[in-house]
This record gives sequence, C-alpha cells and structure tokens, in this order.
Amino acid sequence: MKHTIESGNPEHPVPIMRVSPFLTSRLGLRPIVNHSISSIGAIRIIDFTGSCRLLPINDQATQFLGLDAGNSKTGKQLKAYLNPRGLGLDAIVAYALSHGHSDHVGALHVSPGVPAYMGKGDIPILNGTIPSPGKIPGRIDKARALINLSGAAVVPDVEPFPLEDGESRKFGQIGVRAFAMPGHTAGSMGLFVTRGRHDMQGDFYAGDTLDIDVNGDVVSAAKGATEDVYQSEMAIVGIAKRIRGEHIRIDTLMPAHSGDGLGEALMHFAPSV
Ligand SMILES: [Zn+2]
Repeated sequence: MKHTIESGNPEHPVPIMRVSPFLTSRLGLRPIVNHSISSIGAIRIIDFTGSCRLLPINDQATQFLGLDAGNSKTGKQLKAYLNPRGLGLDAIVAYALSHGHSDHVGALHVSPGVPAYMGKGDIPILNGTIPSPGKIPGRIDKARALINLSGAAVVPDVEPFPLEDGESRKFGQIGVRAFAMPGHTAGSMGLFVTRGRHDMQGDFYAGDTLDIDVNGDVVSAAKGATEDVYQSEMAIVGIAKRIRGEHIRIDTLMPAHSGDGLGEALMHFAPSV
C-alpha cells in the first residue's frame, strides 16, 4: 500500500510508505527511508546505527527541533541534509529525546550547548549515573565499544531538561507534548508534535516503543533491547486509550527503527504478552 500525504514542506507531497521487497522479507517491518517526511514535516535522517528526525520550527525551515539525535560520530548525515540548504548543524536549536539509549542520544555531542529534553527516568543513563538498565548492558557495551573505537561520545556531556508525563513545550511553531511510555526504558516518552494552533492534531514519535510492520500494523519494538516488554506493550495500549479519550488525531506514527505508519494503527494494537 502506498499512502501519499501532503508533507510539511509545501513544495511536494511525499509518499511516506515505501516497501523494499528485500527488507520486507527479512524483517517483516516497514523499511526506513532516508529523508522521508511525516505529515507535520519531520524529516528522517538515517545514520550509523540510529536515526533522528529534523522538524522545521519556522516557515523558512531554517531552524529545527531534533526528535532524537541519532548516533553519528561527526553529524555528517545531518550535514548532508542541512548543508545543501545553506544550513549547518547550528540550525538544530533543541532536541526532544524519546529515551536514553545510545542510538538515540549518541550524536548529541555534535550539537554542544543545544538544549535537550527527555523523560527524567532516563537522565541517569545519559549522564552516566547508571550505565544502562535491564537487558541493555551487553548490547550497549558492545555498541559503546564499537562506537568508541570510531571516536564518538556515547554518553555526551549534556545535562538534559527533564520531561514529565503530560508536559508540553513549545519550539517556534512546534508544540511537543510528552506521554510517558515506560517499558522499553523507565523514562521512555512518546512525543506528540503539533504545528501552530493545531494542538489536537499532529504526528507521534514513538521512539523504540513500537514499530510498524509491512501491513501497516503496530508491533511492539525489539524485545531484546526492551527492559520490560509487558509494561511497554501496556504503555502502548494506555496511550491509545488516552489519545482516543482526548480526541487527539495522530496523522503519522513515527517509530525510530521502522518506516512510518498511520496514527489509527495505534488504536488496533494487540499486546503479544
Ligand atoms: Zn532503545
């Protein structure tokens, strides 16, 4: 299925779902597409092991909120998007982070001094107070070893601002409302992003809590990297109820590690545990 929507960039509507037959058969997930654009205009940037989204916060698209930072050593994938537009990394004015794993925060060091916001439960991961929770240490330590070889900071020297469940922040035209979705990590947050005065309609960045499969359905994210799968799946169910109860409309559902889906898929999620 191909679903075409108006992108936030008025120049062209873009297809948000493109299925590669190879990845389809290998993973069963909707593949990610570099520079694909969500309904609200968030641009996906794929890097070394992570991905992030750049969400323009002004009409000129010269300033961006980063939804996660990705894991690039040098920020070259970010520059590959920004530089041809006459912009540099300083066009990223803030980050909203889904959680503290290195593939989401590892590139914060390329934007020193840029404010970052994240669920307070994960701040100890980021500042190194706790190395990494649950089943993560083995994986993270491997990733850390690998990434350190390539010279990148995994636990960057930043002190993020804590986000509480239900808290809203404004970045230029963009509103961000944090929804606690504990389970993947204790401080995992879903980030509902809106533009202008449309504060009840927007896109939802789900981080590692869920993925979209090739049928467009929501599946819970990689179990091996999730601290508490049951809690995480219940968090998805809980968020769907809150979204419905508050009459919020989600256009694009944005996972970190699969292609995007439609917001309504969130309502049909069935837990596996
Ligand atoms: Zn993660």
